[in-house]
Amino acid sequence: MQTLGVLGGMSWESTVTYYRLLNEGVRDHLGGLHSAPLLLHSVDFALIAAMQKSGDWQGAGKVLAHAAHGLQQAGATALLLATNTMHKVAPAIEAAMGIPLLHIGDAVGQALKADGVKKAALLGTRFTMQEAFYRERLSERFGIEVLVPPPDEQAEIDRIIFQQLCVGQFPEASKRYYLDCLARLKEQGAVAAILGCTEIGLLLEGCASPLPLLDSAHLHVQMGLDWLLGVEQEANTRVAGIGPTTSN
Ligand code: GLU
Repeated sequence: MQTLGVLGGMSWESTVTYYRLLNEGVRDHLGGLHSAPLLLHSVDFALIAAMQKSGDWQGAGKVLAHAAHGLQQAGATALLLATNTMHKVAPAIEAAMGIPLLHIGDAVGQALKADGVKKAALLGTRFTMQEAFYRERLSERFGIEVLVPPPDEQAEIDRIIFQQLCVGQFPEASKRYYLDCLARLKEQGAVAAILGCTEIGLLLEGCASPLPLLDSAHLHVQMGLDWLLGVEQEANTRVAGIGPTTSN
């Protein structure tokens, strides 16, 4: 098997999901005592979040590029950057490495395309919902029209991510808030929902949602497993989200 690098800690709540699902996936595929050959670099998220807040994306890109280079030097043959938001600095990371960055947006886009979804709701941090790096990748590479909530709802979704989900709190009221946002986006024509933040699946897991849910963390892990196990990338087109679940 190949050795896969995981650049995580953003937040570690979801990096735990990556670690567990990668190992479970290898065990399920190969059986016995097999587990995933991984190299994990887990950052101090407080430093990265402060750079996001102050707009120092160049600085954050440098920190992550340095870490990614280290993973390559240590023997990783591909990299999972275990966060949607920090794919904003994917070009800086790719420039510092000679190994592929398995892009989370491609994992999501391939799954949506395979399901024939043309219009999808997107929940994530304010950076992921507002900025071009994520939405344009989905529209330009996969022909997906992305619908996001209005600015006041984006602010609350973002607040919940950083003040609750990234510190391991998953209140019922926040779950309700996210589901209500999705119901309104469904009325606007969305036929599926991208959980475009790696912690949202931890909040919504098992709940009855108005839209089928595509969990970016799960889809990204599947992409990593396909790399580890040498499966053709075409196989990524199977949906590995936590949905679909419907309440009506
Ligand atoms: N894990 C989150 C994401 O997928 C948010 C934390 C971050 O800003 O990196 O975007």
